Amino acid sequence: MDYYSSQITRLIEELSKLPGIGSKSAQRLAFHIINMPEEQVMGLSSSITEAKRNVRYCKECFTLTDQELCPICRSEKRDHKTIMVVEDTRDLAAYEKTGKFEGVYHVLHGAISPMLGIGPNDIKLKELMQRLQGDVEEVIIATNSSLEGETTAMYISKLIKPTGIRVTRIASGVPVGGDLEYIDEVTLLRALEGRVEL
Ligand code: ZN
Repeated sequence: MDYYSSQITRLIEELSKLPGIGSKSAQRLAFHIINMPEEQVMGLSSSITEAKRNVRYCKECFTLTDQELCPICRSEKRDHKTIMVVEDTRDLAAYEKTGKFEGVYHVLHGAISPMLGIGPNDIKLKELMQRLQGDVEEVIIATNSSLEGETTAMYISKLIKPTGIRVTRIASGVPVGGDLEYIDEVTLLRALEGRVEL
C-alpha cells in the first residue's frame, strides 16, 4: 500500500482494525474521509474521542452511559424491584425499543463460557448479587439462547434461588443461538410475557 502517502496508509490501517471493515472498505472510508469537509471530519473525530473519554459503566446496572447513573436507573417511573439481566448493552437497547418493559436492567458484559475460559468472575455477576441485597422482587434472566447464555442463566438461577427472590427466564420463542439484538420486537415481547419460573 505504499503507493499512497504514509498518512493515508495509516488511516487505512487504523480503519481496517474496526470489526467488519476489510481492507477494501477501509480504503473506501479513508478516501471518503479525506474528501469530507474539514468541519465534518473534526466532528467525527471529536465524537469518537469524547465518547471514549466520557462513556463509562452505570454504577448500578453497568450499561454504558456518560453519567454516574444511566437514565433508566435514575428514573422514578421505572420499577426498581424488577431487574432484567442481559448480556450486553445492545440487548438492553433491543428491549428498550419495545417500550414495554418497565423494570430496570443489569448488564453482565458477557456470558459464562467454559470453552472460551470465561468464568463467573469475568462478568458482572458479583455486582448483580450485591444489588439483590436491596429491595428486589424478581430477576428476569434474558441472556441469549446460545449455549453460553443458557449456562449463564442456570448458574445465576442457582445463585439467586436461596435468596427467595423470584427468578424467571424469558420464553424460548427466541431462536436457539439467536442474538437478542437481531430479534424483532414482537418476538421479544412474547418472550418476556411468556417467561417461566426457574
Ligand atoms: Zn443504569
